[in-house]
Amino acid sequence: MTARPLDGTKIRDEIFAELKTEIANLSKQSIRPGLAAVLVGENPASQLYVKSKIAACEQLGLASWMHTPPASSTTDYMLQLVADLNADEAVDGILIQLPLPGQVDTKRVLEAVDPAKDVDGFHPASLGRLVSGRPGLVACTPAGCMEILRRNNIAIEGANAVVLGRSDIVGKPMALLLMHANATVTICHSKTRDLPDVVRRADIVVAAMGRAGYVKADWLKVGAVVIDVGTNKVTDAKEAEQLLANFPARLAKFREKGSVLVGDVHPDAINTAGALTPVPGGVGPMTITMLMSNTVKAARLRRAQSASAVPSSAR
Ligand code: NAP
Repeated sequence: MTARPLDGTKIRDEIFAELKTEIANLSKQSIRPGLAAVLVGENPASQLYVKSKIAACEQLGLASWMHTPPASSTTDYMLQLVADLNADEAVDGILIQLPLPGQVDTKRVLEAVDPAKDVDGFHPASLGRLVSGRPGLVACTPAGCMEILRRNNIAIEGANAVVLGRSDIVGKPMALLLMHANATVTICHSKTRDLPDVVRRADIVVAAMGRAGYVKADWLKVGAVVIDVGTNKVTDAKEAEQLLANFPARLAKFREKGSVLVGDVHPDAINTAGALTPVPGGVGPMTITMLMSNTVKAARLRRAQSASAVPSSAR
């Protein structure tokens, strides 16, 4: 069996097309949704992430602002900046790029964001709404995983779903979304016993651990649906050879570049799973997509007169 690829790039394009229609409808009401991104200091990875988020806003015609306070910023400075963005009527979404410098109280800053503008879905109020099954802004990566499942017509109701990882930004909200979609959900973490046996019972596996190729092909039930959230940059030649032994073209690329991106699921799983998100090109493109979707949704909930003709991605 060769698993069906669950292509995140294709779904991103679909959702972007839907969002463009909704953005055009909002513009008839003189509303232009806007995202304010806050990037503290000069972490190159964070700079790259924020740049791609701003580029996505521009592609869709959303307003965007980038605030770049210095790495020496204090908690008080950040709280004032967040208060200003909360008060700014043109700002629908506030994105605080993590990690913040050590001297800044990250939790206090994130909790200061107006929940109505919490497009990352990190605020306790957003998580609380998700727990109680109320509509709200949901963390982007798990929301994107649900779009991948739904738009590929994967049956969730009644399925045994296993979520590997329990972080506040991926594992926990993912498990809640699957539960609300009527899956029977098991959440695993670093203290879970007999992980391969738990994974073997799953119809749907969501791996969000941050461990390259940790989930082995023979842990999976034949035909299982695998959502691989992990994005691990492998630079060690021995590790790359072990992971990519059956993928000579990818191994050759690694030798050329000196690094390769691998998910939390071993690439050999392509021969056991029924459907699988590729890494890269699976979950990765969905995170920014859902950030855009959340920004448009926040604008609609805060400012629009009518909620008609709303695409499912923006609900
Ligand atoms: P995290 O905060 O480090 O959480 C990792 C989770 O995995 C923890 O709950 C941890 O358990 C669990 N875990 C670690 N080792 C394990 C093991 N051997 N067995 C079972 N569980 C184990 O990571 P995260 O922020 O959720 O991200 C997870 C992965 O997703 C990372 O690779 C990250 O790069 C990727 N990610 C990708 C995207 C994307 O857009 N594609 C977005 C976000 C994250 P404990 O709680 O017991 O420590």
